[in-house]
Amino acid sequence: MELIDVHGHLVDEMFEEDLENVIANSDENLSFYLTAGVDLASSEKSVSLAEKHKKLYATVGVHPEDVFDLACDEVDKDKLHKLLKLCESKKVVAVGEIGLDYHYLQDKTAEEIEKIKHAQKLAFESQLDMANMLKLPVVIHSRDAMGDTIEILKRNKLERESLLHCYSGSVESAKILMELGFSFSFGGVATFKNAKNVQEVIKFLPLNKIMLETDCPYMTPEPYRGKRNEPKNVVYVADAIARIKGVSIEEVARVTTENAKRMFRL
Ligand SMILES: [Zn+2]
Repeated sequence: MELIDVHGHLVDEMFEEDLENVIANSDENLSFYLTAGVDLASSEKSVSLAEKHKKLYATVGVHPEDVFDLACDEVDKDKLHKLLKLCESKKVVAVGEIGLDYHYLQDKTAEEIEKIKHAQKLAFESQLDMANMLKLPVVIHSRDAMGDTIEILKRNKLERESLLHCYSGSVESAKILMELGFSFSFGGVATFKNAKNVQEVIKFLPLNKIMLETDCPYMTPEPYRGKRNEPKNVVYVADAIARIKGVSIEEVARVTTENAKRMFRL
């Protein structure tokens, strides 16, 4: 059975102590696996790690929560250029993770909220432009910000089929995003009994729009919920999706692997 983990964070400090072990386990269990940058430093580390390991590929980008690394009132051209240079590596297969995250804005003042949203949108749109210039797909993170995410994606048409990672939006939004050329990846949440919304979306989506991810070291699937996550656990996500859709795990593995190979040209 071939499996691909399309989204994880192998340069996270939680892997520092036994990274070689985690890589060996991933190599043994997976066809390919991707590691995502969240800022400039982790993007650089992701690329150099991917260059050392055959089955590992990288995505580079600045995450909305790290957005002041790239944009404040305007985009830091020098930093954007560094990000762009990183994409020259053959092991970079997408720009990401990038997007919008309004989850932690509740305790902020109206003025702060406006400033943060503005910076996030600037960073997001400038990285969408970068992806189009490089003809790379995009891996998008969107949390509590689906309206603005869709609005920006409608205004910035992408050259390549792209991915909404750890998708937590509604079926309605999924329909709109599918029309815009997006696929969706799911992680540990798909294995949680109470995640009715995610299960409903998985039921609705055709299998050829679905990919598997871990978002490791976070979002650990059942039966290991609460422990550190790693790429090989993507098999539990495949199993959950198979049960939700009423197909075999082999079928989920085969189609999601095909989808990932097609999108990232692996
Ligand atoms: Zn992530």
